[in-house]
Amino acid sequence: MELIRTVDGMQAHAGDARRAGETLALVPTMGALHDGHLALVRAARQRADHVTVSIFVNPTQFAPDEDFDEYPRHLEQDMEALDAVGGVDVVFAPPVEEMYPDGQQAQRVWVDVEELDQHLCGRYRPGHFRGVLTVVMKLFQACKPHLGVFGKKDAQQYLLLRRMAHDLAMDVEVVGVPTVRETDGLARSSRNRYLTPDERAQAVVLSRAVQAARKRILGGEQRPTAIVEAMRHELAQAPDAKVQYAELVDTTTLAPVSELEAGQEVLAAVAVYFGDTRLIDNAFVQVPAAP
Ligand code: AMP
Repeated sequence: MELIRTVDGMQAHAGDARRAGETLALVPTMGALHDGHLALVRAARQRADHVTVSIFVNPTQFAPDEDFDEYPRHLEQDMEALDAVGGVDVVFAPPVEEMYPDGQQAQRVWVDVEELDQHLCGRYRPGHFRGVLTVVMKLFQACKPHLGVFGKKDAQQYLLLRRMAHDLAMDVEVVGVPTVRETDGLARSSRNRYLTPDERAQAVVLSRAVQAARKRILGGEQRPTAIVEAMRHELAQAPDAKVQYAELVDTTTLAPVSELEAGQEVLAAVAVYFGDTRLIDNAFVQVPAAP
């Protein structure tokens, strides 16, 4: 496993691998790796000859009041975890100056999103997805992957990246991997470590909420309001949970659904604060044919 810290070095390495006929996969992460990230690595390894994991805490996707400075950074531990899981060829861990060589303020060209960032997380995190899509575009340019592997846990991010690849005719396949969970259902997240033991116990309501939505939809419930109500009911079981949103949206428009149609793919999604810690969860569900 090779550690590469420069864009030039990464491009040269990836160019060589491509010329050798290898299929390249990239797993972009912000480090503080956990089992969720490692599942992406395994998925990448199954699909590609060459796997790069990038570790970069991207400043342009954090708002000034968000946790950029506090975000956990443990490169050595992350390298050990990747070594242990095996099958990773390169860790690409550039310093900020490599990714924003003129400084982020000087950058003039960005990947912007229309409409799809006005829903779910994007509504509450203005500029977040512009930062995400722009950095993923840069990571793709540096690492030259055939496949980009992402978690469905960050559903809006995954759907926007698919849309970016489609709308910009990019020669990269965006692959989504199901969410890896703790035994009680809580989605693995680098931010779970911020939770107090009491908050951690209460945080199980997120997965219960989206599972309740799934169950209602698969059980034939047709009313989006009843499905959202079922999610809110589960979230209300946690006394310290402050719900930012609980929504049922269409996976193409990301807009709330007013009517469920057989065969439609919908996303039941929640975002909840425990203190300053913001957690998200979701379920992708195919609406069944009416009984
Ligand atoms: P992050 O380091 O939080 O930016 O996440 C890097 C990648 O790992 C993203 O594609 C996430 O969606 C994915 N990821 C994070 N947590 C999980 C999880 N619990 N299960 C599956 N993928 C995850």
